[in-house]
Amino acid sequence: MIVARDIDKFFKNFFRSSMAQAFLLVGDDGETENLLIRYLACDNKNFCKKCLQCQSESFLGIRFYEGESLKIEDAREIQFAASQSALYGPKIFRIKTVYIAADAQATLLKTIEEPYPETYFIISLVSEASLSAPLLSRLTIFKKSRRDEVVGASKFKLNLENISSIAQNREEAEEVFREIEAWMESRIRVIHPESAISFSGFVEDYFEIKKRFFEKTYPPKMLLEHLAVSKYYFE
Ligand SMILES: [Zn+2]
Repeated sequence: MIVARDIDKFFKNFFRSSMAQAFLLVGDDGETENLLIRYLACDNKNFCKKCLQCQSESFLGIRFYEGESLKIEDAREIQFAASQSALYGPKIFRIKTVYIAADAQATLLKTIEEPYPETYFIISLVSEASLSAPLLSRLTIFKKSRRDEVVGASKFKLNLENISSIAQNREEAEEVFREIEAWMESRIRVIHPESAISFSGFVEDYFEIKKRFFEKTYPPKMLLEHLAVSKYYFE
């Protein structure tokens, strides 16, 4: 679901009725995540600012997993830690990464499927495209309002001439992937029936290229050049 601009109000309403324990934040700049942690840590699940957890500056029940990818060893560690009884209030596992390996996803799924009380998972990714459908179905997905991104997408140009300047490294290439996704989302709403087939061809190419990007089988620049060519045929 799309997170409203007033995130605090949004969470207040959400946690009135939600028992969700596993979350996916897509394209979050940290703001949603920080507030979500406050809500989950709160004894009353409403960031009451009065309970012990809300009052304390440092929340001890949180574990961070950060890095380019989440590997099976990390997922097993999370699975084990989730099964241990907590010493101090709720437990929150916060995973911030670009890519979660397939076997790690399977272990995460198993862990989330057998939830322990007061145990929460927050996964933060640039895009949900690399997650398996079963794992996705178990996550409450929060996305920021896309208004800003759509504006960016209309200006976005993917062509061969500017690829070498926009994709110097993996991080920049990831940014390009994000822009393409925003562009695809805005495009799909206004697509002409005649161009639907070539558009779906491009979307297929896109996901194939993205897979190879995460597998690191080809340099990012080369992959994006291929995409630019594919997009050229569509346009
Ligand atoms: Zn509280």
